[in-house]
Amino acid sequence: MVNVNDSFRHKGLRNRLVKEIEKKGITEKKVLEAIGRVPRHLFMDSSFVHLAYQDQAFPIGQGQTISQPYTVAFQSSLLDVQPGCKVLEIGTGSGYQAAVLSEMQAEVFSIERQQRLYKATGQLLTDIGYPDIRLFLGDGNEGLPAFAPFDRILVTAGASEVPSNLLIQLRPGGIMVIPIGVQSQTMIRIKRLSKDEFEQESFGSFAFVPLLKGIAK
Ligand code: SAH
Repeated sequence: MVNVNDSFRHKGLRNRLVKEIEKKGITEKKVLEAIGRVPRHLFMDSSFVHLAYQDQAFPIGQGQTISQPYTVAFQSSLLDVQPGCKVLEIGTGSGYQAAVLSEMQAEVFSIERQQRLYKATGQLLTDIGYPDIRLFLGDGNEGLPAFAPFDRILVTAGASEVPSNLLIQLRPGGIMVIPIGVQSQTMIRIKRLSKDEFEQESFGSFAFVPLLKGIAK
């Protein structure tokens, strides 16, 4: 990493966070290792840095949040990321989830609709050693047709329904994880078994900010 303030104290706090997430039921080693490597305190507003290693969501500006580490771990586990997987994330936000995917050796593409967040997160990810994550300003409902198909698609904002543009950008054999619902969301995993066959499973209830339409300047 380049120029990073990541001390032994931060690492100690991170190990504790990993243990806490493990206790809550996340068993996949690759996911726990990735959470153990990403310096979450660098992704948060400096006024919240002391809380970075609590298992909680926090504000990141523009009315958005950095997801709870448990939720990041849960979604990352369902996604079953393999090294070299081409992953599309919808809702870059702080960039934390994208960094976790990158630590799992995924090739990460991520779309954010808020211009300010898109710019700030792009700078941050480059500064702290994740220059390979490819960020796009756009409406995630459209996906990234120019780069499709994707092996995995991860939506990190609550959608009222599964965007059809995302479904068609999933490679046959691929997996999409998406929270669906308006007040609260049910975590849904969709497997694309073949060109026309999809299998859907549900996993518990979560709270996400809404998946909106269009771009915000
Ligand atoms: N993955 C993020 C979580 C961010 S919260 C992290 O690790 O920090 C969800 C993000 O989705 C917000 O930044 C919000 O602006 C963004 N978002 C909402 N609707 C969107 C859309 N249609 N396209 C792209 N991003 C969207």
